[in-house]
Amino acid sequence: MTEVSIQPEFFLLDAGDGRPALVGTYCRSCARRSFPPSSTCSWCGNEQTDTVHLSRTGTLWGWTAVTAAPPGYRGPVPFGFGVVELPADGIRVVTRVAVADPDQLHHGQPVELVVDVVHTDEESGARVVSWAFAPAGHQEAR
Ligand SMILES: [Zn+2]
Repeated sequence: MTEVSIQPEFFLLDAGDGRPALVGTYCRSCARRSFPPSSTCSWCGNEQTDTVHLSRTGTLWGWTAVTAAPPGYRGPVPFGFGVVELPADGIRVVTRVAVADPDQLHHGQPVELVVDVVHTDEESGARVVSWAFAPAGHQEAR
Protein backbone atom coordinates (compact mmCIF):
# COMPACT_ATOMS: atom_id res chain seq x y z
CA MET A 1 0.00 0.00 0.00
CA THR A 2 1.26 3.46 -0.86
CA GLU A 3 2.47 5.55 2.05
CA VAL A 4 2.80 9.31 1.94
CA SER A 5 4.71 11.41 4.47
CA ILE A 6 2.47 13.90 6.24
CA GLN A 7 5.36 16.41 6.08
CA PRO A 8 7.75 15.45 3.24
CA GLU A 9 10.15 18.33 4.00
CA PHE A 10 10.68 17.10 7.57
CA PHE A 11 10.14 13.36 7.40
CA LEU A 12 11.61 11.05 4.79
CA LEU A 13 10.19 7.55 4.47
CA ASP A 14 13.44 6.40 2.87
CA ALA A 15 16.56 8.33 3.79
CA GLY A 16 18.53 6.43 1.16
CA ASP A 17 19.08 3.34 3.28
CA GLY A 18 15.50 2.07 3.20
CA ARG A 19 14.74 3.52 6.63
CA PRO A 20 12.87 6.66 7.66
CA ALA A 21 14.60 9.78 8.95
CA LEU A 22 13.80 13.22 10.29
CA VAL A 23 15.39 16.09 8.42
CA GLY A 24 17.02 18.87 10.41
CA THR A 25 19.33 21.80 9.82
CA TYR A 26 23.05 21.98 10.55
CA CYS A 27 24.46 25.49 10.99
CA ARG A 28 27.87 26.12 9.42
CA SER A 29 28.49 29.00 11.84
CA CYS A 30 27.62 27.66 15.30
CA ALA A 31 27.62 23.93 14.37
CA ARG A 32 24.30 23.38 16.14
CA ARG A 33 21.39 21.42 14.74
CA SER A 34 17.72 22.29 14.73
CA PHE A 35 14.38 20.76 13.89
CA PRO A 36 12.26 21.38 11.92
CA PRO A 37 14.66 22.36 9.14
CA SER A 38 15.01 26.04 8.32
CA SER A 39 17.11 28.14 5.96
CA THR A 40 18.02 30.29 8.97
CA CYS A 41 19.71 28.84 12.07
CA SER A 42 17.26 28.95 14.98
CA TRP A 43 20.18 29.38 17.44
CA CYS A 44 22.27 32.17 15.87
CA GLY A 45 20.34 33.41 12.83
CA ASN A 46 23.07 32.42 10.37
CA GLU A 47 21.82 31.65 6.87
CA GLN A 48 24.61 29.22 5.97
CA THR A 49 22.87 25.96 6.81
CA ASP A 50 22.78 22.43 5.47
CA THR A 51 20.05 19.84 5.79
CA VAL A 52 21.00 16.73 7.75
CA HIS A 53 19.34 13.48 8.74
CA LEU A 54 18.82 13.39 12.50
CA SER A 55 19.59 10.39 14.66
CA ARG A 56 16.92 7.73 14.94
CA THR A 57 17.37 7.06 18.63
CA GLY A 58 16.84 9.25 21.65
CA THR A 59 15.30 9.43 25.08
CA LEU A 60 11.80 10.41 26.13
CA TRP A 61 11.77 13.84 27.77
CA GLY A 62 8.07 14.72 28.05
CA TRP A 63 4.81 13.19 26.91
CA THR A 64 1.04 13.24 27.13
CA ALA A 65 -2.01 11.70 25.50
CA VAL A 66 -4.04 13.78 23.06
CA THR A 67 -7.63 12.79 23.71
CA ALA A 68 -9.50 15.35 21.57
CA ALA A 69 -8.78 15.55 17.84
CA PRO A 70 -7.03 18.80 16.84
CA PRO A 71 -8.73 20.83 14.04
CA GLY A 72 -8.27 19.08 10.69
CA TYR A 73 -6.91 15.91 12.26
CA ARG A 74 -8.47 12.77 10.79
CA GLY A 75 -6.65 10.07 12.71
CA PRO A 76 -7.69 8.14 15.80
CA VAL A 77 -7.59 9.48 19.34
CA PRO A 78 -6.15 9.13 21.86
CA PHE A 79 -2.61 9.28 20.53
CA GLY A 80 0.68 9.88 22.25
CA PHE A 81 2.48 13.19 21.84
CA GLY A 82 5.62 14.54 23.40
CA VAL A 83 9.20 15.66 23.25
CA VAL A 84 12.17 13.40 22.57
CA GLU A 85 15.77 14.32 23.24
CA LEU A 86 18.28 13.37 20.54
CA PRO A 87 21.62 13.46 22.40
CA ALA A 88 23.67 12.87 19.25
CA ASP A 89 22.12 15.99 17.69
CA GLY A 90 21.96 18.12 20.85
CA ILE A 91 18.29 18.94 20.37
CA ARG A 92 14.78 17.97 21.42
CA VAL A 93 12.07 17.32 18.86
CA VAL A 94 8.29 17.53 19.14
CA THR A 95 6.83 14.23 18.02
CA ARG A 96 4.04 11.74 18.10
CA VAL A 97 4.69 8.99 20.61
CA ALA A 98 3.67 5.52 19.46
CA VAL A 99 2.29 4.62 22.91
CA ALA A 100 -0.89 6.50 23.81
CA ASP A 101 -1.08 5.41 27.46
CA PRO A 102 1.11 7.82 29.49
CA ASP A 103 1.41 5.29 32.32
CA GLN A 104 3.44 2.96 30.08
CA LEU A 105 6.16 5.57 29.58
CA HIS A 106 8.87 7.04 31.78
CA HIS A 107 11.35 9.91 31.65
CA GLY A 108 14.62 9.02 30.00
CA GLN A 109 13.20 5.92 28.34
CA PRO A 110 15.16 4.89 25.22
CA VAL A 111 13.03 5.47 22.12
CA GLU A 112 13.51 5.02 18.40
CA LEU A 113 12.06 6.61 15.28
CA VAL A 114 9.16 4.72 13.68
CA VAL A 115 6.58 5.31 10.97
CA ASP A 116 3.09 5.89 12.40
CA VAL A 117 -0.06 5.71 10.25
CA VAL A 118 -2.23 8.80 10.86
CA HIS A 119 -5.10 8.10 8.47
CA THR A 120 -5.94 6.75 5.01
CA ASP A 121 -6.57 9.33 2.28
CA GLU A 122 -10.07 8.59 0.98
CA GLU A 123 -9.37 9.77 -2.59
CA SER A 124 -6.03 8.11 -3.29
CA GLY A 125 -6.22 5.27 -0.79
CA ALA A 126 -2.70 6.14 0.34
CA ARG A 127 -1.75 5.80 3.97
CA VAL A 128 -0.70 9.16 5.36
CA VAL A 129 2.11 8.55 7.82
CA SER A 130 3.94 10.64 10.38
CA TRP A 131 7.10 10.25 12.37
CA ALA A 132 6.74 8.95 15.88
CA PHE A 133 9.03 7.63 18.55
CA ALA A 134 8.37 4.26 20.14
CA PRO A 135 10.05 2.58 23.11
CA ALA A 136 13.24 0.93 21.82
CA GLY A 137 12.53 -2.62 20.75
CA HIS A 138 8.81 -1.87 20.48
CA GLN A 139 7.14 -3.22 17.37
CA GLU A 140 6.85 -0.58 14.63
CA ALA A 141 3.70 1.48 14.91
CA ARG A 142 2.52 0.72 11.38
ZN1 LIG B 1 23.85 28.78 14.11
